[in-house]
Amino acid sequence: MREDYPRTLLELEERFSDEAKCRGYLFALRWPQGFICPACGSGGLAIRRDLWRCVSCGRETSVMAGTILQDSKLPLRVWFRAMWQVTSQKNGVSALGLQRVLGLGNYKTAWALLHKLRRAMVRPGRDCLSGVVEVDEAYWGAEELGVRGRQSVDKALIVVAAQVDGKGIGRIRLWHIADTNRATLHGFIGQSIEPGSTVVTDGLQAYREMEGYAHDRQIQKHQSADAEHLLPRVHRVVSLFKRWLLGTHQGAIAHEYLQDYLDEFTFRFNRRTSRHRGHLFFRLAQQAVAVEPAPYRRLVKHLHRHRNR
Ligand SMILES: [Zn+2]
Repeated sequence: MREDYPRTLLELEERFSDEAKCRGYLFALRWPQGFICPACGSGGLAIRRDLWRCVSCGRETSVMAGTILQDSKLPLRVWFRAMWQVTSQKNGVSALGLQRVLGLGNYKTAWALLHKLRRAMVRPGRDCLSGVVEVDEAYWGAEELGVRGRQSVDKALIVVAAQVDGKGIGRIRLWHIADTNRATLHGFIGQSIEPGSTVVTDGLQAYREMEGYAHDRQIQKHQSADAEHLLPRVHRVVSLFKRWLLGTHQGAIAHEYLQDYLDEFTFRFNRRTSRHRGHLFFRLAQQAVAVEPAPYRRLVKHLHRHRNR
């Protein structure tokens, strides 16, 4: 599909003024060549407003079925305005901010809407990083929340990959991980970085053990303890992430949702040079109706199983 998106709030309001217009846009994003049955891949016919029936297997499908929009009671107009709020502002929007600007009845609705959108922001295994990539771990937790004495309990572990782009940073990937075992780090590198790339890390044993079998990714180690100077990009990314969490979301993040925030931060960061904010709206809408069948969480469970063996 041609990259077709509103450029201003006024354009958004005019184009998506009713449910049928919103549905038409989602339909074109999901099925640019016309309806395709998700069960068997055949074509189909529109049988009612937002319902298509497959000509082969007879299955009936709506444009929202199987996407993050499935079973939502909110009008698509609200979804579209939420996507616009999330993408049009440089740092995004908090659940409270979204509730206020959209006039939603309660905080939980706004919160759930934002979390669903975050799940459409990063597609694991797609658009991998390449070239020279710095990889390191970082912590999110106790001291940022102002809680003393429970650091070991409250800290969450994050692994960061940042592509080297001259002196700057290219694209990034961030995962919330349970440990720094070989299987976990190996899984992250395998899912995030293309074969043939050079991975620059510190001297952590788990990376050392990875040498030679990380799917043809050359692992380059720095032995110095001074990782901040050797891996400046990952450290810059971590500090920007922490600043964003504290600024936009007041830092009050439960660990179980940390990956959603990492995904939103990654989505923003990787598109920070987009000339039109509307382009981010387009990507988000496109990914909202094209969610991958194997979400990140399933991959994490797999890694956790691996760890427990
Ligand atoms: Zn079918």
